[in-house]
Amino acid sequence: MTLRAEILAFGDELLHGALLDTNSKWLAGQLEAVGLTVERFTVTGDDPTLVRAVIAEACARADVVVATGGLGPTLDDRTRDVVAELLGGPLEFHAPSWERTRAWLSQRGRPVPESNRRQAMLPPGGTALDNPVGTAPGFRVRIGRATLFALPGVPREMQQMLRDHVLPFVAALPGLMPTAQSWLRVLGPSEAALGERIEPFMVPGRNPAVGITASGGLLTVRIVASAPSRADAESLCHATAADLRPLLGEWLFAEGTTELPEAVAARFALARRTLAFAESCTGGALADRLVAVPGVSAVFRGGLVAYHDDAKRQLLGVPALLLAAHGAVSEPVAAAMAAGARERFGADVAVATTGIAGPDGGSPQKPVGTVCFALARPGAVRAWTVRIADLGRAFVRDRAVFEVWRTLLQEPLDG
Ligand code: AMP
Ligand code: MG
Repeated sequence: MTLRAEILAFGDELLHGALLDTNSKWLAGQLEAVGLTVERFTVTGDDPTLVRAVIAEACARADVVVATGGLGPTLDDRTRDVVAELLGGPLEFHAPSWERTRAWLSQRGRPVPESNRRQAMLPPGGTALDNPVGTAPGFRVRIGRATLFALPGVPREMQQMLRDHVLPFVAALPGLMPTAQSWLRVLGPSEAALGERIEPFMVPGRNPAVGITASGGLLTVRIVASAPSRADAESLCHATAADLRPLLGEWLFAEGTTELPEAVAARFALARRTLAFAESCTGGALADRLVAVPGVSAVFRGGLVAYHDDAKRQLLGVPALLLAAHGAVSEPVAAAMAAGARERFGADVAVATTGIAGPDGGSPQKPVGTVCFALARPGAVRAWTVRIADLGRAFVRDRAVFEVWRTLLQEPLDG
Protein backbone atom coordinates (compact mmCIF):
# COMPACT_ATOMS: atom_id res chain seq x y z
CA MET A 1 0.00 0.00 0.00
CA THR A 2 1.39 3.38 -0.91
CA LEU A 3 0.28 6.81 0.16
CA ARG A 4 -0.97 8.60 -2.89
CA ALA A 5 -0.65 12.31 -3.54
CA GLU A 6 -2.07 14.62 -6.17
CA ILE A 7 -0.99 18.14 -6.98
CA LEU A 8 -3.37 20.85 -8.20
CA ALA A 9 -2.41 24.20 -9.69
CA PHE A 10 -5.05 26.90 -10.10
CA GLY A 11 -4.80 30.09 -12.12
CA ASP A 12 -6.05 31.33 -15.49
CA GLU A 13 -2.55 32.54 -16.29
CA LEU A 14 -1.34 28.93 -16.24
CA LEU A 15 -3.72 27.97 -19.03
CA HIS A 16 -3.09 30.91 -21.32
CA GLY A 17 0.53 30.17 -22.00
CA ALA A 18 1.53 33.16 -19.89
CA LEU A 19 3.07 31.30 -16.99
CA LEU A 20 4.54 27.85 -16.60
CA ASP A 21 3.31 25.79 -13.66
CA THR A 22 6.64 25.37 -11.91
CA ASN A 23 4.99 24.89 -8.52
CA SER A 24 3.81 21.36 -9.30
CA LYS A 25 7.24 20.23 -10.46
CA TRP A 26 8.87 21.50 -7.29
CA LEU A 27 6.16 20.08 -5.04
CA ALA A 28 6.39 16.66 -6.66
CA GLY A 29 10.10 16.42 -5.92
CA GLN A 30 9.52 17.34 -2.29
CA LEU A 31 6.58 15.02 -1.75
CA GLU A 32 8.23 12.06 -3.46
CA ALA A 33 11.38 12.52 -1.42
CA VAL A 34 9.50 12.22 1.87
CA GLY A 35 7.64 9.14 0.72
CA LEU A 36 4.36 10.00 -0.98
CA THR A 37 3.66 8.60 -4.43
CA VAL A 38 2.66 11.49 -6.67
CA GLU A 39 0.13 10.14 -9.13
CA ARG A 40 -1.27 13.12 -10.94
CA PHE A 41 -0.91 16.86 -11.64
CA THR A 42 -3.95 18.87 -12.57
CA VAL A 43 -3.65 22.42 -13.87
CA THR A 44 -6.82 24.41 -14.31
CA GLY A 45 -8.07 28.00 -14.43
CA ASP A 46 -9.86 29.96 -11.76
CA ASP A 47 -13.38 29.00 -12.83
CA PRO A 48 -15.05 27.89 -9.56
CA THR A 49 -17.01 25.04 -11.15
CA LEU A 50 -13.81 23.54 -12.52
CA VAL A 51 -11.86 24.17 -9.33
CA ARG A 52 -14.58 22.46 -7.35
CA ALA A 53 -14.69 19.41 -9.62
CA VAL A 54 -10.92 19.08 -9.65
CA ILE A 55 -10.66 19.25 -5.85
CA ALA A 56 -13.51 16.76 -5.37
CA GLU A 57 -11.99 14.26 -7.83
CA ALA A 58 -8.48 14.49 -6.42
CA CYS A 59 -9.74 14.12 -2.85
CA ALA A 60 -11.71 11.01 -3.82
CA ARG A 61 -8.55 9.32 -5.12
CA ALA A 62 -5.61 10.51 -3.07
CA ASP A 63 -4.50 10.53 0.56
CA VAL A 64 -2.83 13.91 0.34
CA VAL A 65 -3.76 16.70 -2.07
CA VAL A 66 -1.65 19.85 -2.32
CA ALA A 67 -3.19 22.77 -4.22
CA THR A 68 -1.49 26.05 -5.10
CA GLY A 69 -3.02 29.32 -6.26
CA GLY A 70 -6.43 30.80 -5.88
CA LEU A 71 -5.93 32.16 -2.35
CA GLY A 72 -5.50 35.83 -3.22
CA PRO A 73 -7.70 38.66 -1.89
CA THR A 74 -9.49 39.20 -5.19
CA LEU A 75 -12.74 37.70 -6.41
CA ASP A 76 -11.06 35.50 -9.00
CA ASP A 77 -9.30 33.56 -6.25
CA ARG A 78 -12.00 31.12 -5.19
CA THR A 79 -10.33 28.09 -3.63
CA ARG A 80 -11.61 28.74 -0.10
CA ASP A 81 -15.22 29.37 -1.23
CA VAL A 82 -15.24 26.25 -3.33
CA VAL A 83 -13.92 24.07 -0.53
CA ALA A 84 -16.55 25.46 1.86
CA GLU A 85 -19.21 24.56 -0.72
CA LEU A 86 -17.82 21.05 -1.03
CA LEU A 87 -17.96 20.63 2.72
CA GLY A 88 -21.48 22.05 2.81
CA GLY A 89 -20.84 24.81 5.30
CA PRO A 90 -20.20 28.56 5.41
CA LEU A 91 -16.74 30.11 5.50
CA GLU A 92 -15.66 30.97 9.01
CA PHE A 93 -13.75 34.10 9.91
CA HIS A 94 -10.41 33.31 11.52
CA ALA A 95 -9.46 36.34 13.59
CA PRO A 96 -5.78 35.42 14.26
CA SER A 97 -5.13 35.17 10.51
CA TRP A 98 -6.69 38.57 9.93
CA GLU A 99 -4.55 40.05 12.71
CA ARG A 100 -1.44 38.57 11.17
CA THR A 101 -2.29 39.90 7.73
CA ARG A 102 -2.92 43.37 9.16
CA ALA A 103 0.30 43.33 11.13
CA TRP A 104 2.24 42.10 8.09
CA LEU A 105 0.91 44.93 5.91
CA SER A 106 1.24 47.71 8.49
CA GLN A 107 4.79 46.70 9.42
CA ARG A 108 5.64 47.38 5.79
CA GLY A 109 3.78 50.70 5.80
CA ARG A 110 1.17 49.38 3.41
CA PRO A 111 -2.56 50.11 3.56
CA VAL A 112 -4.81 47.37 4.90
CA PRO A 113 -7.62 46.90 2.35
CA GLU A 114 -10.84 45.36 3.62
CA SER A 115 -10.70 42.90 0.73
CA ASN A 116 -7.80 41.19 2.48
CA ARG A 117 -10.34 40.00 5.01
CA ARG A 118 -11.39 37.37 2.49
CA GLN A 119 -8.03 35.72 3.02
CA ALA A 120 -8.76 35.18 6.70
CA MET A 121 -11.85 33.07 5.93
CA LEU A 122 -11.58 29.33 6.52
CA PRO A 123 -13.72 26.50 5.22
CA PRO A 124 -15.52 24.55 7.97
CA GLY A 125 -13.16 22.34 9.96
CA GLY A 126 -10.15 23.96 8.31
CA THR A 127 -6.89 24.72 10.07
CA ALA A 128 -5.17 27.97 9.14
CA LEU A 129 -1.59 27.68 7.90
CA ASP A 130 0.47 30.70 8.72
CA ASN A 131 2.29 32.39 5.82
CA PRO A 132 5.50 33.94 7.16
CA VAL A 133 6.44 35.56 3.83
CA GLY A 134 3.18 37.00 2.54
CA THR A 135 -0.38 37.96 3.36
CA ALA A 136 -2.34 34.92 2.21
CA PRO A 137 -2.59 32.21 4.84
CA GLY A 138 -3.19 28.72 3.56
CA PHE A 139 -5.34 26.05 5.11
CA ARG A 140 -5.50 22.36 5.74
CA VAL A 141 -8.80 20.52 5.68
CA ARG A 142 -10.05 16.98 5.56
CA ILE A 143 -12.25 16.13 2.56
CA GLY A 144 -13.45 12.53 2.73
CA ARG A 145 -10.40 10.35 3.20
CA ALA A 146 -7.99 12.95 1.85
CA THR A 147 -6.17 15.78 3.54
CA LEU A 148 -6.17 18.87 1.34
CA PHE A 149 -3.51 21.55 1.74
CA ALA A 150 -4.31 24.83 0.02
CA LEU A 151 -1.22 27.00 -0.43
CA PRO A 152 -0.70 30.36 -2.16
CA GLY A 153 0.56 30.39 -5.75
CA VAL A 154 3.56 32.66 -5.22
CA PRO A 155 6.45 30.19 -5.40
CA ARG A 156 8.46 31.64 -2.51
CA GLU A 157 5.44 31.60 -0.18
CA MET A 158 4.30 28.16 -1.32
CA GLN A 159 7.76 26.69 -0.73
CA GLN A 160 8.11 28.10 2.75
CA MET A 161 4.65 26.88 3.72
CA LEU A 162 5.30 23.42 2.39
CA ARG A 163 8.36 23.20 4.65
CA ASP A 164 6.56 24.70 7.65
CA HIS A 165 3.20 22.95 7.45
CA VAL A 166 2.97 20.17 4.88
CA LEU A 167 6.20 18.20 5.23
CA PRO A 168 5.98 17.87 9.04
CA PHE A 169 2.37 16.65 8.72
CA VAL A 170 3.28 14.16 5.99
CA ALA A 171 6.34 12.91 7.86
CA ALA A 172 4.06 11.67 10.65
CA LEU A 173 1.84 9.58 8.32
CA PRO A 174 2.17 5.81 8.50
CA GLY A 175 3.09 3.91 5.32
CA LEU A 176 5.51 6.39 3.75
CA MET A 177 7.88 5.08 1.09
CA PRO A 178 10.67 7.64 0.72
CA THR A 179 12.49 7.69 -2.61
CA ALA A 180 16.11 8.16 -3.51
CA GLN A 181 17.61 8.82 -6.93
CA SER A 182 20.95 8.20 -8.59
CA TRP A 183 21.84 9.57 -11.99
CA LEU A 184 24.43 8.15 -14.34
CA ARG A 185 25.42 10.58 -17.11
CA VAL A 186 26.15 8.99 -20.43
CA LEU A 187 27.78 10.26 -23.60
CA GLY A 188 28.30 8.38 -26.84
CA PRO A 189 25.53 5.91 -27.63
CA SER A 190 22.14 6.67 -29.14
CA GLU A 191 19.19 6.43 -26.79
CA ALA A 192 18.18 3.15 -28.45
CA ALA A 193 21.67 1.63 -28.14
CA LEU A 194 21.82 2.59 -24.49
CA GLY A 195 18.34 1.13 -23.96
CA GLU A 196 19.41 -2.20 -25.44
CA ARG A 197 22.47 -2.35 -23.25
CA ILE A 198 20.54 -1.89 -20.02
CA GLU A 199 17.24 -3.46 -21.11
CA PRO A 200 16.99 -6.03 -18.26
CA PHE A 201 16.96 -3.13 -15.78
CA MET A 202 14.15 -1.29 -17.51
CA VAL A 203 11.29 -3.73 -16.89
CA PRO A 204 8.15 -1.97 -15.62
CA GLY A 205 7.51 -2.35 -11.92
CA ARG A 206 11.16 -2.87 -11.02
CA ASN A 207 12.37 -1.23 -7.80
CA PRO A 208 14.59 0.67 -8.30
CA ALA A 209 13.02 1.84 -11.54
CA VAL A 210 15.57 2.55 -14.25
CA GLY A 211 14.80 4.99 -17.06
CA ILE A 212 16.60 7.04 -19.67
CA THR A 213 16.10 10.74 -20.30
CA ALA A 214 17.69 12.62 -23.19
CA SER A 215 18.43 16.31 -23.12
CA GLY A 216 20.70 18.39 -25.32
CA GLY A 217 22.56 15.38 -26.71
CA LEU A 218 23.24 14.01 -23.27
CA LEU A 219 21.65 10.87 -21.87
CA THR A 220 20.93 10.29 -18.21
CA VAL A 221 20.18 6.91 -16.72
CA ARG A 222 17.87 7.67 -13.82
CA ILE A 223 17.59 5.21 -10.98
CA VAL A 224 14.67 5.79 -8.60
CA ALA A 225 14.18 3.55 -5.59
CA SER A 226 11.55 3.60 -2.89
CA ALA A 227 11.72 1.84 0.46
CA PRO A 228 10.30 2.20 3.96
CA SER A 229 13.26 4.36 4.92
CA ARG A 230 15.32 6.85 3.02
CA ALA A 231 18.51 4.97 3.90
CA ASP A 232 17.10 1.74 2.44
CA ALA A 233 16.05 3.57 -0.71
CA GLU A 234 19.55 4.98 -1.07
CA SER A 235 21.22 1.61 -0.71
CA LEU A 236 18.88 0.10 -3.29
CA CYS A 237 19.89 2.90 -5.66
CA HIS A 238 23.57 2.38 -5.00
CA ALA A 239 23.27 -1.35 -5.64
CA THR A 240 21.61 -0.82 -9.03
CA ALA A 241 24.15 1.87 -9.93
CA ALA A 242 26.94 -0.60 -9.13
CA ASP A 243 25.34 -3.17 -11.45
CA LEU A 244 24.93 -0.65 -14.25
CA ARG A 245 28.41 0.92 -14.20
CA PRO A 246 30.21 -1.99 -15.87
CA LEU A 247 27.54 -2.14 -18.59
CA LEU A 248 27.99 1.53 -19.39
CA GLY A 249 31.78 1.36 -19.44
CA GLU A 250 33.35 4.20 -21.44
CA TRP A 251 29.98 5.84 -22.02
CA LEU A 252 29.69 6.84 -18.38
CA PHE A 253 31.29 10.26 -17.96
CA ALA A 254 29.85 11.50 -14.68
CA GLU A 255 27.35 10.80 -11.93
CA GLY A 256 24.74 12.85 -10.13
CA THR A 257 23.85 16.29 -11.39
CA THR A 258 27.29 16.92 -12.94
CA GLU A 259 26.97 18.89 -16.17
CA LEU A 260 29.30 18.67 -19.15
CA PRO A 261 31.52 21.72 -18.42
CA GLU A 262 32.05 20.42 -14.89
CA ALA A 263 33.08 17.03 -16.20
CA VAL A 264 35.46 18.63 -18.72
CA ALA A 265 37.06 20.74 -16.01
CA ALA A 266 37.45 17.70 -13.76
CA ARG A 267 38.99 15.65 -16.57
CA PHE A 268 41.52 18.37 -17.43
CA ALA A 269 42.36 18.94 -13.77
CA LEU A 270 42.99 15.24 -13.28
CA ALA A 271 45.22 15.08 -16.35
CA ARG A 272 46.93 18.37 -15.37
CA ARG A 273 46.21 19.90 -18.74
CA THR A 274 45.20 23.47 -19.52
CA LEU A 275 42.60 24.66 -21.98
CA ALA A 276 41.84 27.71 -24.14
CA PHE A 277 39.12 28.64 -26.64
CA ALA A 278 38.94 30.58 -29.87
CA GLU A 279 35.25 31.19 -30.45
CA SER A 280 33.41 32.58 -33.40
CA CYS A 281 29.87 31.23 -33.70
CA THR A 282 29.68 30.18 -30.03
CA GLY A 283 30.39 33.79 -29.06
CA GLY A 284 32.00 33.14 -25.69
CA ALA A 285 29.48 30.52 -24.54
CA LEU A 286 32.23 27.96 -24.04
CA ALA A 287 34.22 30.30 -21.82
CA ASP A 288 31.09 31.44 -20.00
CA ARG A 289 29.97 27.92 -19.13
CA LEU A 290 33.41 26.71 -18.20
CA VAL A 291 33.99 29.68 -15.90
CA ALA A 292 30.73 28.80 -14.10
CA VAL A 293 32.59 25.79 -12.68
CA PRO A 294 34.27 26.57 -9.33
CA GLY A 295 38.02 26.01 -9.25
CA VAL A 296 38.38 26.10 -13.02
CA SER A 297 41.34 28.49 -12.84
CA ALA A 298 43.60 25.44 -12.55
CA VAL A 299 42.49 24.40 -16.01
CA PHE A 300 41.25 27.36 -18.05
CA ARG A 301 43.76 29.78 -19.56
CA GLY A 302 41.30 31.97 -21.42
CA GLY A 303 39.11 32.40 -24.42
CA LEU A 304 38.82 34.83 -27.25
CA VAL A 305 35.75 35.74 -29.24
CA ALA A 306 37.06 36.45 -32.72
CA TYR A 307 33.99 37.14 -34.79
CA HIS A 308 35.08 39.36 -37.66
CA ASP A 309 37.71 38.13 -40.12
CA ASP A 310 40.01 40.96 -39.00
CA ALA A 311 39.80 39.73 -35.41
CA LYS A 312 40.64 36.22 -36.53
CA ARG A 313 43.68 37.60 -38.36
CA GLN A 314 44.90 40.15 -35.86
CA LEU A 315 44.12 38.43 -32.57
CA LEU A 316 44.64 34.80 -33.50
CA GLY A 317 47.08 35.08 -36.39
CA VAL A 318 44.85 33.37 -38.95
CA PRO A 319 46.55 34.02 -42.34
CA ALA A 320 44.58 36.36 -44.62
CA LEU A 321 45.22 34.01 -47.50
CA LEU A 322 43.52 31.17 -45.66
CA LEU A 323 40.46 33.31 -45.01
CA ALA A 324 40.35 34.39 -48.64
CA ALA A 325 40.86 30.92 -50.03
CA HIS A 326 38.53 28.89 -47.80
CA GLY A 327 36.21 31.38 -46.08
CA ALA A 328 35.89 31.94 -42.34
CA VAL A 329 33.77 28.82 -41.93
CA SER A 330 36.29 26.21 -43.00
CA GLU A 331 38.46 23.56 -41.44
CA PRO A 332 41.76 25.31 -42.32
CA VAL A 333 40.57 28.52 -40.63
CA ALA A 334 39.29 26.60 -37.57
CA ALA A 335 42.67 24.87 -37.36
CA ALA A 336 44.53 28.17 -37.55
CA MET A 337 42.25 29.68 -34.88
CA ALA A 338 42.88 26.77 -32.52
CA ALA A 339 46.63 26.84 -33.11
CA GLY A 340 46.67 30.61 -32.58
CA ALA A 341 44.72 30.38 -29.34
CA ARG A 342 46.85 27.56 -28.04
CA GLU A 343 50.01 29.51 -28.62
CA ARG A 344 48.73 32.88 -27.38
CA PHE A 345 47.18 31.49 -24.21
CA GLY A 346 50.00 29.05 -23.55
CA ALA A 347 47.50 26.22 -23.13
CA ASP A 348 48.01 22.52 -23.67
CA VAL A 349 44.79 22.20 -25.65
CA ALA A 350 42.80 24.81 -27.56
CA VAL A 351 39.48 24.41 -29.31
CA ALA A 352 38.09 26.66 -32.03
CA THR A 353 34.56 27.07 -33.37
CA THR A 354 33.49 28.80 -36.57
CA GLY A 355 30.13 28.22 -38.16
CA ILE A 356 26.97 29.48 -39.77
CA ALA A 357 24.31 29.82 -37.07
CA GLY A 358 21.75 31.39 -39.43
CA PRO A 359 19.17 32.36 -40.32
CA ASP A 360 21.22 33.99 -43.13
CA GLY A 361 24.64 33.28 -44.52
CA GLY A 362 24.10 29.72 -45.71
CA SER A 363 25.01 28.46 -49.18
CA PRO A 364 24.54 25.13 -50.98
CA GLN A 365 28.08 24.09 -50.03
CA LYS A 366 27.85 25.45 -46.50
CA PRO A 367 24.21 25.46 -45.39
CA VAL A 368 23.07 27.05 -42.15
CA GLY A 369 24.17 24.76 -39.35
CA THR A 370 27.60 24.05 -40.83
CA VAL A 371 30.10 24.39 -38.01
CA CYS A 372 33.83 23.79 -38.26
CA PHE A 373 35.78 22.83 -35.19
CA ALA A 374 39.45 22.36 -34.50
CA LEU A 375 41.41 21.02 -31.58
CA ALA A 376 45.05 21.95 -31.21
CA ARG A 377 47.37 20.00 -28.94
CA PRO A 378 51.13 19.66 -28.72
CA GLY A 379 52.35 18.83 -32.19
CA ALA A 380 48.97 18.27 -33.82
CA VAL A 381 45.86 20.10 -34.94
CA ARG A 382 42.72 18.26 -35.92
CA ALA A 383 39.80 19.95 -37.69
CA TRP A 384 36.36 18.60 -38.48
CA THR A 385 32.97 19.75 -39.65
CA VAL A 386 29.54 19.02 -38.24
CA ARG A 387 26.29 19.69 -40.07
CA ILE A 388 23.93 20.70 -37.30
CA ALA A 389 20.22 20.69 -38.14
CA ASP A 390 18.97 24.19 -38.95
CA LEU A 391 16.51 24.44 -36.08
CA GLY A 392 17.25 28.07 -35.31
CA ARG A 393 20.25 30.10 -34.31
CA ALA A 394 20.09 29.21 -30.61
CA PHE A 395 19.88 25.51 -31.40
CA VAL A 396 22.88 25.59 -33.76
CA ARG A 397 24.96 27.45 -31.18
CA ASP A 398 23.92 25.11 -28.36
CA ARG A 399 24.77 22.06 -30.39
CA ALA A 400 28.14 23.54 -31.32
CA VAL A 401 28.86 24.03 -27.63
CA PHE A 402 27.78 20.46 -26.93
CA GLU A 403 30.09 19.14 -29.67
CA VAL A 404 33.04 20.83 -27.98
CA TRP A 405 32.27 19.35 -24.54
CA ARG A 406 31.75 15.95 -26.13
CA THR A 407 35.12 16.18 -27.87
CA LEU A 408 36.93 17.38 -24.76
CA LEU A 409 35.55 14.44 -22.79
CA GLN A 410 36.52 11.86 -25.37
CA GLU A 411 39.81 13.18 -26.78
CA PRO A 412 42.87 11.38 -25.40
CA LEU A 413 44.73 13.86 -23.20
CA ASP A 414 48.15 12.30 -22.79
CA GLY A 415 50.95 13.12 -25.15
P1 AMP B 1 -2.36 33.28 -6.63
O1 AMP B 1 -2.02 32.73 -5.29
O2 AMP B 1 -3.26 32.41 -7.43
O3 AMP B 1 -2.89 34.68 -6.55
O4 AMP B 1 -0.99 33.36 -7.46
C1 AMP B 1 -0.10 34.43 -7.27
C2 AMP B 1 1.05 34.39 -8.26
O5 AMP B 1 1.85 33.23 -8.05
C3 AMP B 1 0.64 34.28 -9.72
O6 AMP B 1 0.36 35.52 -10.29
C4 AMP B 1 1.87 33.67 -10.33
O7 AMP B 1 2.84 34.65 -10.61
C5 AMP B 1 2.39 32.76 -9.26
N1 AMP B 1 1.91 31.39 -9.47
C6 AMP B 1 0.67 30.90 -9.22
N2 AMP B 1 0.57 29.60 -9.51
C7 AMP B 1 1.78 29.22 -9.97
C8 AMP B 1 2.33 27.97 -10.43
N3 AMP B 1 1.58 26.85 -10.46
N4 AMP B 1 3.62 27.93 -10.82
C9 AMP B 1 4.37 29.06 -10.78
N5 AMP B 1 3.92 30.26 -10.35
C10 AMP B 1 2.65 30.35 -9.95
MG1 MG C 1 -4.51 33.31 -9.03
